[in-house]
Amino acid sequence: TAKERGGNRVHVFNTQQRTLLRDRMDMGVHLRGAVARGELELAYQPVVSVAKREITGMEALVRWRSPQLGLVTPDRFIPLAEDLGLIPDIGQWVLVQACQQARRWLDCGVGDFVLSVNVSGLQMRGQQVIEDVSRALDGARLPARYLELELTEKAIMGDPDHVASLMRELRKIGVSLSMDDFGIGHSSLGLMQRFPVNRLKIDRSFVSAVPNDVGAARICRAILGLAHEFGCTVVAEGVETPLQLGFLERNGCEYIQGHYLGEPVSADGMLARLRNPSLRTADQGNRGDAGS
Ligand code: C2E
Ligand code: MG
Ligand code: MG
Ligand code: MG
Repeated sequence: TAKERGGNRVHVFNTQQRTLLRDRMDMGVHLRGAVARGELELAYQPVVSVAKREITGMEALVRWRSPQLGLVTPDRFIPLAEDLGLIPDIGQWVLVQACQQARRWLDCGVGDFVLSVNVSGLQMRGQQVIEDVSRALDGARLPARYLELELTEKAIMGDPDHVASLMRELRKIGVSLSMDDFGIGHSSLGLMQRFPVNRLKIDRSFVSAVPNDVGAARICRAILGLAHEFGCTVVAEGVETPLQLGFLERNGCEYIQGHYLGEPVSADGMLARLRNPSLRTADQGNRGDAGS
């Protein structure tokens, strides 16, 4: 009966909640010390210039290879790390590793690129990030122009004045800045004037719905217009099909990122792509894999 089903639902819900909570506590226990035990690693996803049909950069995406839990994606452990106060350590580790990897690619003789690193809002408290970024660059002997920091709208809206001043400092060092997941947060148009960003990244939820969804298409075009009005370029994230690429190209989007252009790969995998940076679409990539 309906009543029994309802009863079951409540019971299942509670069990699920309890399981979630226990999983989270387990994960927290293992996550502490994960950096020190060397369990984190970075994957790199290509960022492609639409005009050049070429890889012009990559985004560093952290993964956690836990002996107990297997490979954990950042969507699952970054929010927990934020709650547990582990972000300073993890954030600094990511910065240092990313800069050192960029140095290694340069030493291999590949051409120019921009490496994007995600920064949590919690890293934008105080002045620490300025020193952390400078140290990571110096330690790797990496010129600042190779590094871009990605901030979400949420990360900057916590303390907008403070974050705006940090962002100006970071730009002075010479790194570039992008606004990640743009369009889903609570940013106002005024934000564009106050925060010195070089690029906007259109959130995947809009990109994945074009060209068929009229609303998503309008939002993408509006973001492109807004960005260009303020002298920013645009990266569309989550491009999975040639139709999406076509839509973005017609509407003047400069950069694209997504499974159609390449999934996140190891540093060596990225080196191979940097050595042959011409656009390789998902179909061609699959053909290559099948042959090996
Ligand atoms: P993000 O910065 O928006 O990164 C893009 C995410 O979309 C990545 O997920 C990437 O693998 C995924 N993605 C890219 N192209 C496609 C596509 O075509 N289709 C689909 N379905 N997904 C695609 P990932 O690696 O799981 O990272 C998730 C989020 O975790 C990131 O979103 C970012 O907010 C956060 N994150 C990752 N690395 C770091 C880090 O080092 N520090 C911090 N604070 N956050 C990080
Ligand atoms: Mg990002
Ligand atoms: Mg993003
Ligand atoms: Mg996203």
